[in-house]
Amino acid sequence: MEVVTKPADEDRASVENLDPQFIAQQRFEQAAAYIAGFKEGLIDFFKAPKRTIGVCFPVEMDDGTVRTFHGYRILHNHVLGPGKGGIRYHPEITRAEVASLAALMTWKCAIANLPFGGAKGGVICDPKVLSEAELRHITRRFISELGDEIGPQTDIPAPDMYTDERTMAWIYDTYDILHPGQNNLPVVTGKPLELGGSLGRMEATGRGCLYATERFLAQAGLPGLSSVAGARVVVQGFGNVGSVAASLFQEAGAVVVAVSDSKGGIYAEEGLDLDAVSTQKQEVGTVVGTPDTQTLSNQDLLALECDILIPAALGAVIRYDNAERVAARLVVEAANGPVTLMADEILQAKQIPVLPDILANAGGVTVSYFEWVQNLANESWSLEEVNEKLRRKMYAAVDAVMGRWRTLSAGSVSDESVGASLEVNLRIAALVQAIEHVARVTLQRGIWP
Ligand code: NAD
Repeated sequence: MEVVTKPADEDRASVENLDPQFIAQQRFEQAAAYIAGFKEGLIDFFKAPKRTIGVCFPVEMDDGTVRTFHGYRILHNHVLGPGKGGIRYHPEITRAEVASLAALMTWKCAIANLPFGGAKGGVICDPKVLSEAELRHITRRFISELGDEIGPQTDIPAPDMYTDERTMAWIYDTYDILHPGQNNLPVVTGKPLELGGSLGRMEATGRGCLYATERFLAQAGLPGLSSVAGARVVVQGFGNVGSVAASLFQEAGAVVVAVSDSKGGIYAEEGLDLDAVSTQKQEVGTVVGTPDTQTLSNQDLLALECDILIPAALGAVIRYDNAERVAARLVVEAANGPVTLMADEILQAKQIPVLPDILANAGGVTVSYFEWVQNLANESWSLEEVNEKLRRKMYAAVDAVMGRWRTLSAGSVSDESVGASLEVNLRIAALVQAIEHVARVTLQRGIWP
């Protein structure tokens, strides 16, 4: 558990718990308090994963030695449909972390109104020191160990940290070999285009962020900021999500003044030349050093005065010890969990709204859903069709969350005493929206038997 201390401020707790599972549970409890007639037993059911699978398997390495690997696949909830969620490869994966990410997927799919439950998986390994052959062996063995626990109608994996379309192709192939004679393409999403992948999947998360922001600004918005056009934008992270978001916001008329990666950030008062930034990143491995830019640290980047700040790198980057410095008018969570519990409070006190991750970055899983639908029908849609469908889904999700936020803010909460003790923000509204949806469907289906 990572802990941040700030002893100088004695009025507040001096320690912040950054454990993602702790944060997820706290947020769930905050939201649950707003749900009228929420059955106690259902709260407990939603807090725990429905099914946890842990596997352990040997793999023969390139040098002939044998190593044992541990992996998880956790299905948090499948009331709305089959589980959906990524598989990550990382040396520090824990069961608790995978479980909290699976729960986030349940709420994200519910907000985007997708017919999926939430799931997540991972193998404890360090892909940076594994060869391609070793990664393939780990993937095939992991998927065969999961057996029929994954499937086109049961639980559908996707890429996550340190897994990619190549990994998804191996997953498909392994499952297909074990289940011959049927259409197995929908067993996994994020596949290569030629193997049933969808156009627009690579850009989907960044594009979804843009659509969510556009809709939010057009709807309720912020005084003096009703459109992305002309907005000054700062993006932390220049990977898949961050680089796409930067380009698409710029295309939509925003001025992207700063971006960063793990080595540092760059700033240009008049707006960055993103082609030059991409070239620098490709050739040198970092955005730092792009001609005609000033270098700055990631901490200073987060404190830049701007209209829209988009953290698109890691979790827990805006927290107790730096949230006070945030000088944006809106924070859009492209990454998962970039704003901590205490930072939420600080930003709220500063009246800086946060478009929460389960809404803002839902574009990725939405286009994964489109891939699944295309695979089921053996079709492939044009890029225009994918993007238009994504835009409609994201707008509808923002509308639903904004609507819930308005009713919650108007005081229409079940328990005024609990409600009065909590500040309603967009994150709570989004969670309330999602949890209510899953709770309603659970009761409509009837609790078995
Ligand atoms: P990525 O690996 O492609 O990019 C991550 C970027 O973050 C890189 O530019 C890296 O240099 C930068 N970075 C790493 N450490 C940093 C640090 N300390 N400070 C600043 N920058 C740092 O990953 P991605 O796919 O772009 O994902 C980014 C975030 O978005 C993650 O939180 C991920 O969980 C979330 N997300 C991704 C998707 C998706 O479709 N890829 C969907 C939903 C959410």
